[in-house]
Amino acid sequence: MSSGAYERPVDPARSALMRRVRQKGTEAEDEVAEILRGLGVRFRRNVKSLPGSPDFANKTHHWAIFVNGCFWHRHQGCHRATTPARNRDFWLAKFEANERRDKIKARLLRAMEFSVVTVWECETQDLSKVRKRLKPIIKSQ
Ligand SMILES: [Zn+2]
Repeated sequence: MSSGAYERPVDPARSALMRRVRQKGTEAEDEVAEILRGLGVRFRRNVKSLPGSPDFANKTHHWAIFVNGCFWHRHQGCHRATTPARNRDFWLAKFEANERRDKIKARLLRAMEFSVVTVWECETQDLSKVRKRLKPIIKSQ
């Protein structure tokens, strides 16, 4: 860590991991934005007026997209959804809270008759696949 004079001692491994994961998530979002633009649809990013602030949404056409980091949001069966051995309880509690929140926000949006799609960070390795998944909800416009 750099100017750590005022900072509380942190676990360097943990903060490096958090930083890496956060950056990756942002890249994945940019990829999805690119796809949506390519599909020629209108959208807003980080829509705070909707439950869970979807990463992308169109309120008129009732769709919302979450771009989820595989690590934070526990992509089932994904090799990125690891659990660090250190501070295991911390991580498990955090993951559980994230998953609970994700379920609730999807449920709230569906109750508002939104189509909800989750794009996993690892899926953005294959953009044509993501495009194929997003097309159906966007077609309904
Ligand atoms: Zn994944």
